[in-house]
Amino acid sequence: MLDIHQIRADFPILNQKVNGKPLIYFDNGATSQKPKVVIDAISKYYNEINANIHRGVHTLSQLATDAYEEARLKVQNHINAKHNYEVLFTSGTTFGINLVANGFASILKSGDEVMVSALEHHSNIVPWQMLCEKTGATLKVIPMNENGELIQSEYEKLLSEKTKIVTVNHISNALGTINPVKQMIAKAHQVGAAVLIDGAQAVPHLKPDVQDLDCDFYAFSGHKMCGPTGTGILYGKEEWLNKLPPYQGGGEMIKEVTFEKTTYADLPHKFEAGTPHIAGGIVLGTAIDYLNKLGFENIQELENELLAYGTKRLLEIEGLKIYGTAPKKTAVISFNIEGIHPYDIGSIIDKLGIAVRTGHHCTQPIMNFYGIPGTIRASFSFYNTKEEIDSMVEALKKAQSMLS
Ligand SMILES: *Cc1c(COP(=O)(O)O)cnc(C)c1O
Repeated sequence: MLDIHQIRADFPILNQKVNGKPLIYFDNGATSQKPKVVIDAISKYYNEINANIHRGVHTLSQLATDAYEEARLKVQNHINAKHNYEVLFTSGTTFGINLVANGFASILKSGDEVMVSALEHHSNIVPWQMLCEKTGATLKVIPMNENGELIQSEYEKLLSEKTKIVTVNHISNALGTINPVKQMIAKAHQVGAAVLIDGAQAVPHLKPDVQDLDCDFYAFSGHKMCGPTGTGILYGKEEWLNKLPPYQGGGEMIKEVTFEKTTYADLPHKFEAGTPHIAGGIVLGTAIDYLNKLGFENIQELENELLAYGTKRLLEIEGLKIYGTAPKKTAVISFNIEGIHPYDIGSIIDKLGIAVRTGHHCTQPIMNFYGIPGTIRASFSFYNTKEEIDSMVEALKKAQSMLS
């Protein structure tokens, strides 16, 4: 078992006071905090090797290129991709999803179907709606139940030869539900549909195996897994990445340019136009190393304990209702307290140093399903403690007595 004090010492920000109170950071679903090794690696990059990659023969350019490509290999290993060129650096999950949705515009025709789920983040809904508008394809939605689980029998009914791509999150950001993506991917493949998995909320908690899942695309962000903002990965199977057209034109993504005709670079560079977030990509590798050193089994054990304890303690509060009660979920608790707007509670407990997210969490369809404007979301990470949960429960009781 890991020593929580040692872990917390890795995260300088956790020592901070906010509004005069020790920071309690329960907004990990929005972005995680960064360990000192990650912060130091950013400064080391700019202090010691900053140069543009792939362009120069000079030493620093070589060092930067090597470090960037080494980070790609780390990601490849981490997600068990078959080839390193199936790992594309992006600016985040949103970019990765848009890249694929944009590429499918050249594949889909009117009458085809695109399937999303009722549990998706707006960034895994809107790009597909835009794709449907462009191509005349129809958007289908896999429905959810009261617990916040996707209804698998309905999913099977919706699948047909018309389904060209299914896109679903591995873990829901609003409710924490872990979706049975492996089975869902297999079912989609039976009708010949491609599958994109939005792994933004999964990668902080587990190590995805893209070959075992057999997904066609897997997108995630660096900043929710202890890495820098503005970084991310899109994994795509080689055959799909060859099939899709480039997303952006520019430097680095070409083989040869003339005014008559331009030919594109091989994978992965075909999808990596322009100067990327070099420091970010390299340091995403550092973040992945950090998480692997802690060990995902240890991370899950710590977080599952926080989930069980937090659920039990929160339910002691009168009138508190938890949204998202799937048996398989991560350490995310979305809740409301009867008769009080989530925003009012969020503001009061912020004064007490507690950071939670309030609102629709970029998942308005889920809020509409429950008929609520939003929730309070406490999302835990391995560096949180039961004592912090106790403090939140006290703060919530205080807010409740002030507001009712
Ligand atoms: C955060 C999140 C996104 C969007 O990620 P960005 O880093 O903002 O691009 C997409 N899907 C889910 C499930 C998320 O939690």
